[in-house]
Amino acid sequence: MQKPWFEVEHYIDGEFVKGGNRFEVFYPATNEAIGTAPEGGEAEVDAAVAVARRAFGKWGRTPAAERRRILHAFADGIRAREEELARVESWDVGRPIRENAHGYIQRVAANIEFFADFVVTHGSEAYPMDTGYVNYVLHRPVGVAALITPWNVPMLLETWKIGPALAFGNTVVLKPAEFTPVGAWKLAQIAHEVGLPPGVFNVVHGFGPDSAGAFLTGHPDVDLISFTGETTTGKAIMKNAADTLKKLSFEMGGKGPNIIFADADLEQVVKISVRSSFFNQGEFCLAGPRILVERPAYEEFVERFAEASKGLRPGDPMDPETTLGSLISSDHLQKVQGFLDELPSTQAEVVLGGDRPELDEPFDGGNYLNATIVTGAKPRERICQQEVFGPVVTVTPFDEEEEAVEIANGVSYGLSAVVQTRDLGRAVRVSDALEAGTVWVNDFFVRDLRVPFGGMKQSGIGREGGIYSREFFTEAKNVCLSNR
Ligand code: NAD
Repeated sequence: MQKPWFEVEHYIDGEFVKGGNRFEVFYPATNEAIGTAPEGGEAEVDAAVAVARRAFGKWGRTPAAERRRILHAFADGIRAREEELARVESWDVGRPIRENAHGYIQRVAANIEFFADFVVTHGSEAYPMDTGYVNYVLHRPVGVAALITPWNVPMLLETWKIGPALAFGNTVVLKPAEFTPVGAWKLAQIAHEVGLPPGVFNVVHGFGPDSAGAFLTGHPDVDLISFTGETTTGKAIMKNAADTLKKLSFEMGGKGPNIIFADADLEQVVKISVRSSFFNQGEFCLAGPRILVERPAYEEFVERFAEASKGLRPGDPMDPETTLGSLISSDHLQKVQGFLDELPSTQAEVVLGGDRPELDEPFDGGNYLNATIVTGAKPRERICQQEVFGPVVTVTPFDEEEEAVEIANGVSYGLSAVVQTRDLGRAVRVSDALEAGTVWVNDFFVRDLRVPFGGMKQSGIGREGGIYSREFFTEAKNVCLSNR
């Protein structure tokens, strides 16, 4: 496939801005440059926030039905460009195109449609008092929303924030991840084509510290920040935002357990575990890289899981046969390999992978790592505690349900978990005991947009989704009516 070239631009006040200070954008699968993007500084951030503030006056008061109409056009525009956007996402991330084919871009659009509809289909609460007073609640937009997003599932997370922010009447400045600017630029093009009013949706590219991210999250005229990314970044943003007291919603790192009981259907367990381990080459906050298996099923699981994972095919992300993509950068690959380099000094053993695949040009220059399965690692060891964020999982046996829960909860993260069992009572008990914002029982990565989404402990602050997004993206105001 011909290599593309993208000259990415900021999008400020309905205009595309080339910007002076440009950085290169790389295709993770080959590490070749595929374009350049501008680094926004204070001037671009100031300009974007100022126009978002100005546009808020009108957008915040635009009837919800009209906002819904425009946002549906935005979502339709995304659907109409599904094939192009699927390719763009793979150029940005290095993810196999086949993983974008199964509804990924549809979901990018649905994130916008869902909230556009939500605003017109949901009322608000009223509390009549027996003294004759009536209280009713108004949900008013907050103002200028700064949306800060990561590189791993970029377009999905961008619209997950853009959709509710705009539907509830806020205006937006999006700062996409520096590794994946192309998709956000395409979303801006679509917003522009469908006629989103100037200033309502703005995109400023750049980096985090001393760059667009920090300028935006510390900006006095930004009212709220929805951030997804690493826990350490969340801490830096919280400090930076403290002086101007902004509303914050943080979705951060994860280290999900995948708990497998011996009564579960092993064939299904293996399928689910391959997906929860290696989807998006393991660069997935919701992944289940800590696999805990009840001892009677342990050996057979390891054997069948390794056999199934061996079938994953690394290579050209644009080839529909490819099932394992490239990591985002050579630095990140090194970080992931660093976890494996420590293993010889422990009792852990690599039972599959651990090495890099031999690929033809130009993919031999990419950041590939084979699907890797590690056994014998102790729950307190670094590989079981920290986010590896690559195609590396550990498998650990357990004897008792309580022990599984204790190991599962024994990390600083609490984003998601998978529980695989046919015993309903056990599924209920274990789901209740797990410290995780989302628990999947006998499946993985399925979500209704009405449910709360977010993490416990170091994985997050707040919840988004359905009414939870309304709580965050609006200010609730009580009006108390007298009967006199
Ligand atoms: P990151 O924290 O490095 O970057 C995320 C975004 O924050 C980028 O746009 C970056 O430019 C910006 N940023 C970095 N430093 C900043 C600063 N000081 N001020 C303002 N902005 C700053 O994360 P990443 O490496 O892009 O993404 C991977 C991480 O995201 C993993 O930890 C993963 O678990 C997490 N993640 C979480 C979820 C979730 O829903 N909880 C979803 C996807 C990814």
